[in-house]
Amino acid sequence: MKLAYQYKLLPTYEQRCRMDKWLDRLRYQYNYLLADRFDWWEMNRCPVNAYPLVCSIAQPREQPEYYGQKRSLVSLKQEQEWYADIHADVLEERVKRVDLALAQFIKGDKNGKRSGKPRFKGKNRYRTFAYPRVKPDCIQGNQVTLPKLGEIKLIQHRLVPEGFTMKRALVTQKADGWYVTLTLEDKSVPDLPAIEIQPTATNSIGVDAGLEYFIACSDGSTKQPPKFYRQSEDKLAKLQAKRDARAKGSKPRRKLNERIAKLHQRIARQRKQWHFETAQELIDKAEVIFLEALKVSNMSRRHQPKPGENGTFLPNGQAAKSGLNKSFADAGIAGFLNDVLPYVAQRAGKRVVKVNPAGTSQHCAMCLNRVPKELSDRWHECPHCRASMARDLNSGLLIKKVGLGVRLTIKRESRNGRRSPRRTA
Ligand SMILES: [Zn+2]
Repeated sequence: MKLAYQYKLLPTYEQRCRMDKWLDRLRYQYNYLLADRFDWWEMNRCPVNAYPLVCSIAQPREQPEYYGQKRSLVSLKQEQEWYADIHADVLEERVKRVDLALAQFIKGDKNGKRSGKPRFKGKNRYRTFAYPRVKPDCIQGNQVTLPKLGEIKLIQHRLVPEGFTMKRALVTQKADGWYVTLTLEDKSVPDLPAIEIQPTATNSIGVDAGLEYFIACSDGSTKQPPKFYRQSEDKLAKLQAKRDARAKGSKPRRKLNERIAKLHQRIARQRKQWHFETAQELIDKAEVIFLEALKVSNMSRRHQPKPGENGTFLPNGQAAKSGLNKSFADAGIAGFLNDVLPYVAQRAGKRVVKVNPAGTSQHCAMCLNRVPKELSDRWHECPHCRASMARDLNSGLLIKKVGLGVRLTIKRESRNGRRSPRRTA
């Protein structure tokens, strides 16, 4: 079983300077190795034994690859002595990182998902270096021993669990200081098996996620979305205006930038903590949690522009939608549903099941008759069984029923010549 623990480091002034320098040099090296790869493509475009007819004039050379770049580090250390100060594993890990970034760009990851073209990193975008392996007992008391950097004090806010040994260490510079993330492993504890709890009416709960309520559960409970970003928006705007008034590259501007970064960090942490607390509340309620398999990226799409006459555009509601999109981002629903909740559930030995969302807002949870609604209808009124409740609560109940095996039929109302007017969320 693998775990990741993060601790705040309390480095001395010398250690801080040294880590700063390391980051700088590693960044140069990363950018150089990346440029080497790009240059080859630009100049050669194909292997040496298959030359194209039209090509830039260049010395044909072997394509740079992982092992070749790794060998080049030896001469690098001889030519530029200051690289010898960096631990060899840390430097090599950068070569691996370049290799991975390009592989993800060209071939994609194991699911075939390709990422964008790797970018050259500026100073503010390069904040981590990694030890691919550390001593199993590198934490002693409130100190961590990292090769070459020596003993660094840390705040041990929680103890490393019994039986776990350290595998990897990541050192990261954040807005409020340095952190170390340790990967811990205990080989004697197997990974938690996929748990197959059979859902029943009593041990499961249906959860509908939205904006009016962050989540609405089938047991009738709801949670309001957090507005951490909106709470700090004024403060942030003031700081940003103040910063923009200062000259670029000046010390006051840098200080203000640091304060802005800390505020962003605070907002992100508030949100994260709230997500974990909310997830824990849900986990305490049931063994199996049913969720809608939604694509949140669709929910925060921009509205289509509406062309009017003479090349003008008619109002399309984008102003209101962008306010809504900001709220979506502020609530961080996607992160909650896709990352936090499954993680908390797995650790508690519980199950999260995604169900097909089709029809879960268009039917009555009590009698299962179809009750068509527009997106703006926030209340569910059933003409068949007189059920009356908030739209999202109705959806929560339906999601639970669908999860338990009820099938919703999407009847078209073609008999009266009316089809369902538009797809509603
Ligand atoms: Zn009904």
